[in-house]
Amino acid sequence: MSPAPAGKLIVISGPSGAGKSTLVKRLFELKPGPLVSSVSATTRPPRPGERDGVDYYFISPEEFARRRSQGEFLECCQVFGSDHWYGTLRSEVTPSLQAGKWVVLEIDVQGTLEVLRQYPDAVTIFIHPGSMQELERRLRGRRTESEADIARRLEVARQELAAAHHYRYQVVNDQIERAAQELSNILLSQKGADR
Ligand code: 5GP
Repeated sequence: MSPAPAGKLIVISGPSGAGKSTLVKRLFELKPGPLVSSVSATTRPPRPGERDGVDYYFISPEEFARRRSQGEFLECCQVFGSDHWYGTLRSEVTPSLQAGKWVVLEIDVQGTLEVLRQYPDAVTIFIHPGSMQELERRLRGRRTESEADIARRLEVARQELAAAHHYRYQVVNDQIERAAQELSNILLSQKGADR
């Protein structure tokens, strides 16, 4: 019997408002490989429409701290510009990798650096908004945030963009379908790249 194909860890980051979630959703439809998403844990409260166990595992700060001290997280941090903790559970990643899946993490820059320390072969992709003006337009379009929130998110976005060089691939989300194809092609090009 041949051994199970090696799984892949795919890390996708980009500023809030860069259209990351829509792009990742489209990537799953294009299905360049056996993709599965890792559901993160967070201490932030759910937004309207978000579901526990689907969008995130919404847990209390106490439970987060307990799981952290028990070493359940592959990486976790307080995301820049947020008072909340976010983390990738090992239980979301290890079994899927062993089963040969391509595990997609949508995490921030700090988390990515920690993942790279443990999985140097992780495929890291940074999603850029078309432009800062485009980012501002998308953030305003959500109409869920105050001026102060928008200003804070734009500042966080500037900091994140400055860390884009840590990523192996850069994708500009100027047009969703084009960007999703580019993302899919990047992953397909990895197929033969395993050692
Ligand atoms: P939101 O609260 O808008 O869903 O996410 C805010 C930020 O948290 C995003 O930049 C997202 O990439 C990041 N994030 C989500 N889950 C994780 C995680 O498990 N670990 C880390 N480090 N960042 C995360």
